[in-house]
Amino acid sequence: MTYQQFIKDKEKLAIENEKEESSVVLLLEHVCQIETNDLYLRMFDEIDDEIIKDFNKIFDAYLYDNKPIQYLIGTSCFYGYDFIVNENVLIPRYETEELVENILYRYDDYFKGQKVDVCDLATGSGCIAISLALEEKNMKVVASDISFEALEVAKKNNEKFNANVEFLQGDMLKPFEGRRFDIFVSNPPYIPDDEDVMSLVKDNEPNIALFGGNDGMKFYRIILSGVKPLLKEKAIIAFEHGYDKKEEMIKLANTYFPDSRVEVLKDLEGKDRMTFIYVGDFDE
Ligand code: GLN
Repeated sequence: MTYQQFIKDKEKLAIENEKEESSVVLLLEHVCQIETNDLYLRMFDEIDDEIIKDFNKIFDAYLYDNKPIQYLIGTSCFYGYDFIVNENVLIPRYETEELVENILYRYDDYFKGQKVDVCDLATGSGCIAISLALEEKNMKVVASDISFEALEVAKKNNEKFNANVEFLQGDMLKPFEGRRFDIFVSNPPYIPDDEDVMSLVKDNEPNIALFGGNDGMKFYRIILSGVKPLLKEKAIIAFEHGYDKKEEMIKLANTYFPDSRVEVLKDLEGKDRMTFIYVGDFDE
């Protein structure tokens, strides 16, 4: 059987099982350890039995065991980088790429050319911290997570990309005590505890990285109530959050930083997804 026929058959099977047909090519590339272009060059070659066997094993896990493709492949593309992921970290989301992008824009607007200290609280795979460090050499990034297992993944990614991020283990603000930052970032767990979450997510991704208390606001409260001593005189706080939390985020920001400008940004789907707080002396 040729690769082409094999892919066709498996795509049909994926559709019949209500799964993504694009998974077939992704998994096949992973099994063959090749890139898309090379796979297309092979389309009319015979596919060998060993590859079929390896593919079927991983494809079965995708079709029937409800496993996310990123965990099966072991990587997830974020900001153009293939981050290592496993069951101990949240799979990076598109919205979070937008958080990174917006932080980079704001850096250019307010700190351009200056060296800045950046903190990423609850870093998971390290995707935010590492992308920022790679994209902006003037950012010195420190990242934390409460989970030792997550930090292992983040450190592997840091090595993979040679990113120079410092990692600290600990709960919320504690690991950063005594330091001061220009940019304080977090995409903490923010799904309300009782919200229905699809089983692909809930049964596979670490629940500690998903749920953020009764209203999904627990971690923003903890951060905003204690973060002041960790900020330099002029600093930006950047959060990702639930699409329906705009008003609550503004209220919370105004409670702890009454004199600061607050900006809520939409994601590409038009949902209120990020809040930036400008603490200190920003002209505008
Ligand atoms: N900061 C990490 C990410 O954006 C992890 C977030 C989390 O665990 N909630 O992917």
